[in-house]
Amino acid sequence: MARNYAPVCRYCRREGLKLMLKGVRCETAKCPIEKEYRNKPPGMHAWRRGKTSEYGVRLREKQKVKRYYGLLENQFQRFFAMALKGTDNTGVNLLQLLERRLDNVVFKAGLANSRRTARQMVAHGHLHVNGRRVDRPGYLVRVGDAITVRGAERSQNYVKSQIGEDVRPPQAWLVTEFNKLTARVIALPQREDVLLPVAENLIVEFCSR
Ligand code: SF4
Repeated sequence: MARNYAPVCRYCRREGLKLMLKGVRCETAKCPIEKEYRNKPPGMHAWRRGKTSEYGVRLREKQKVKRYYGLLENQFQRFFAMALKGTDNTGVNLLQLLERRLDNVVFKAGLANSRRTARQMVAHGHLHVNGRRVDRPGYLVRVGDAITVRGAERSQNYVKSQIGEDVRPPQAWLVTEFNKLTARVIALPQREDVLLPVAENLIVEFCSR
């Protein structure tokens, strides 16, 4: 399985906003976006770059979403192809599909402090969906799905260690019972549940070239 080992703070600096990719560290003063001298695009000659082209603006929107959800290009294109098959607005379809990824759901439910950790939790088999082990971070949850932690003490302790002071706003489509280490999907996510400021129509324009 291909993995992205890149230093992720560069992504936030490139997009000029906090993508919250490092869990609790993102809330501390160590975040480069919080420091005036580091809150600029990575690279030696960022100041030389001129005005962003129309293509560049669209590319940035696509990259922003891809990085926010921790996807590689092929994975992103697979989701875009699925979004094209939907009957509603393609951009909204895309965001809703990405929100339904199991790693995102685990993160938003508060069972992991970053999407990266949630992804590892799923891939290492610590979680069950409706009582069955699911180890694919890209699994799409449905309404009524219950996400639980494997009974093994190691899994229980690992997930408990991830639950800290929750800074994420509560999600209307998810219900989490922290004492039982369980999350339930009670509705499908809506566009307003995607907290990332993004113009999804520009992504559709970029990917439809
Ligand atoms: Fe982004 Fe978090 Fe790094 Fe800040 S600490 S730049 S929010 S990944």
